Amino acid sequence: MEVRRTVPIKLEVTDSDADLLHETIQQFLDAANYVVDEAYDGEWAETRKTVLHEQTYDELRDRTELHSNHVQSARDRAVDALKSTVATWSKGEYASLPTFTTPFCEYNQRNATFFDGHATLSTVDGRVTVEYVLPDESRETPHSNYLLNDEFETTGATLHYRSGSFYLHVRIKATVDAPDLPENGTVFGVDLGIENLAVTSTGSFWSGDELNHWRTEYVKRRESLQECGTRWAHENIQAVGRKETGRFDQYLHRVASELVDEAVHAGCTTIAFEDLTDIRERMPNAREFHEWAFHRLYDYVEYKATTCGITVEQVNPQYTSQRCSTCGFTHEDNRHGESFSCHSCGYENHADYNAAKNIGLTLLRNQTGDEGGAPVGVRLNSGMLTTNGVGPVPDSVRVGIHAESSPV
Ligand SMILES: [Zn+2]
Repeated sequence: MEVRRTVPIKLEVTDSDADLLHETIQQFLDAANYVVDEAYDGEWAETRKTVLHEQTYDELRDRTELHSNHVQSARDRAVDALKSTVATWSKGEYASLPTFTTPFCEYNQRNATFFDGHATLSTVDGRVTVEYVLPDESRETPHSNYLLNDEFETTGATLHYRSGSFYLHVRIKATVDAPDLPENGTVFGVDLGIENLAVTSTGSFWSGDELNHWRTEYVKRRESLQECGTRWAHENIQAVGRKETGRFDQYLHRVASELVDEAVHAGCTTIAFEDLTDIRERMPNAREFHEWAFHRLYDYVEYKATTCGITVEQVNPQYTSQRCSTCGFTHEDNRHGESFSCHSCGYENHADYNAAKNIGLTLLRNQTGDEGGAPVGVRLNSGMLTTNGVGPVPDSVRVGIHAESSPV
């Protein structure tokens, strides 16, 4: 049985090496964007790797100073993104062509070498050495569990740059006998909303009142200033806007911190959110502001969680509010505003809490395919929820979950 993990590591890089990594990332993104351009013929996009290889490889080797494996990885990333665009087009829906702007670059065993405390990475001008900034080793961390564990083999990594630092998300794998599986982690489900900004599968609620109140006050002030129409009023609107944004930001930071602390405390390895794409369309009362706040909160959680070795993922939100987290029965009548009451098994609870558990369960189902190292359950305030029901997790479930077929 194969176990795969991704371990995020912050890097320490000298200024001159940082310049080389930035340039490598830029050329990598340019290469991926070039492949997208070449794939698009004005009407449809080519998604076959072999065809795009013929079409772009030599040209990219000429145009860039990238390692050959970077050229191939950039093409593969472009192909993956194009496939999802083409899938959307096939349904007759609109999707823009993918563009790569978020700084990242792929590494594998041929253009990087991974050691216990550092790695060497190919750049546009030779290799550089990056030092790992590892957390305190007295604590059990993903680093001590996997990275420094000889049984795990490093297969590759993605280099990221964000908030002024480089990070290497190192992919590792091990082949283990099923009974020797390292203890699997658990999922922490988070439901986002307007009344309650966030509700977790562990039963914690963060009310949206504070944000909504500030927002209403801000809109009122802005409107009264707009009525003035003077230049002074206009400048004042901008100042008020900046101040409010800072205030919202600070609040979202605090919620993100508390949320991640709770996930850490509960021993969770993955935090699951609903997919944020189109979230506003799914929430009739959501404003642009809410959408902004959800994305901010997600980004902050992802950032903080990553530094704690917790991965954050988004899952398909379909039926999370109508589905019973206890028996799986799904019906729109199960939910009435804030209360959830299952018409099949009689389970009753706060609708957002039920949704948070479902979000965790959806991730669990997604990961229980052939990935041996999938999490075993969704963390509740007491006990654990598995795809087979609530309760102490029986050993058979711990070892390799088989997702029940979804009743939906
Ligand atoms: Zn039920």
